Amino acid sequence: MLSLEAALEIILNSVPEIIGTGPGMGMERVALSDSFGRVLAEDVIAEDNLPPFDNSAMDGYAIIAEDTRGAGKDNPRKLRVIAEQPAGKVSAPPVTPGNAVRIMTGAPMPAGADAVVMVEHTESKDGAVFIYCETPVGANVRRSGEDVKPGQLVLKNGERIGPAHMGMLASLGHVQVAVSKKPRVAIITTGDELVDVDERPGPGQIRNGNQYSLLGEALQAGCEVSMLERTRDNKEEIERVLSAAAADSDLVIVCGGVSVGDYDYVKEILAKLGEMRFWKTAIKPGKPLAFGQIGGTPVFGLPGNPVSCMVCFDVYIRPAIRQMSGDESGGLATVTGVVTDDIRHKPVRREFVRAVTIWEDGGYSARPISKHGSGMLSSMVEANSYVVIREDMGDVRKGDQVEIILFRV
Ligand code: AMP
Ligand code: MG
Repeated sequence: MLSLEAALEIILNSVPEIIGTGPGMGMERVALSDSFGRVLAEDVIAEDNLPPFDNSAMDGYAIIAEDTRGAGKDNPRKLRVIAEQPAGKVSAPPVTPGNAVRIMTGAPMPAGADAVVMVEHTESKDGAVFIYCETPVGANVRRSGEDVKPGQLVLKNGERIGPAHMGMLASLGHVQVAVSKKPRVAIITTGDELVDVDERPGPGQIRNGNQYSLLGEALQAGCEVSMLERTRDNKEEIERVLSAAAADSDLVIVCGGVSVGDYDYVKEILAKLGEMRFWKTAIKPGKPLAFGQIGGTPVFGLPGNPVSCMVCFDVYIRPAIRQMSGDESGGLATVTGVVTDDIRHKPVRREFVRAVTIWEDGGYSARPISKHGSGMLSSMVEANSYVVIREDMGDVRKGDQVEIILFRV
């Protein structure tokens, strides 16, 4: 049985660094509005200053700082208000000693002014303003380029585009952005007991839940789903669907039929169509995981138990997908925290215990979920995290420090 690290090494050595071959093959340009969640495929270097011009950080009065020297609560300075400068306007005349311009947040600083006094520290009367506090040079002024300067690397190739990235791209005038192509992933579920979600299960039958949890996983990981098929436990059918999937996808997931049951054909078919690298890894849940390739396309055979297949996806397939899409973001967040209950653990396999992790009293605490069978999908609905218990550890005691993977934040 392979350790998680050994299995992951084989997987990452077999999965292409980026889909497609040759320069630019693995990327495409998309509209900025379609870029959310995609992986940036270029460095973004600013050509402009942000902010583009000196502007006011407050609603108030643009003044010459020197004019406020010695001002105080009982000792206001009186200035003449010569103009108003709202955001988007550049019409105010230069400020000269003894004068002020009424200014709004985001409006360009008028020439001559070197500070803004907040409106809260002023009183206006008959075309004049009384300033009740001394204001230093530069106060409440946002300087051109203080956020971003031309030539600055603002976003790096391999970052996942989030809301702030989109805002930055927009602020710098990028209508389009180069992103990695989405890996095209085939999801095949197998099992004579399965019926589609819109069918009524007969005796001994169940609905094909995993098709949808895996669809969700694949979409969340930033994939395009190239095929969504269900097969019977039938060698010819699995072989046909699997070879079609491998020919037309960047990555193939087959769920069910990888264990040691009499109708578990996936390993045999994978070995026949391509190469099977391993089929068992030392994690719990999710031990029966098959990995191989068909004509260069990586193929993952996941256990059919609803929790096991999701854990395998998180542990093994997510890193593969990140590598294929050039995603340097580091994946799911790992934190350290304490457990709120004892967890029994027999050494040998690394266990991923579903838990609800919250931030309380300045630290993370993880409550293991009591219904923890690998068939209990409700535990995955409830959980937001895995407590990781390493293979060499024994039982974990309430209050022990553990590693926690947050998969839903
Ligand atoms: P298998 O890995 O094929 O031996 O299946 C293990 C368990 O997972 C069995 O109880 C199956 O009924 C169940 N299972 C397999 N595939 C699915 C699926 N697509 N959706 C829900 N349960 C499944
Ligand atoms: Mg099965």
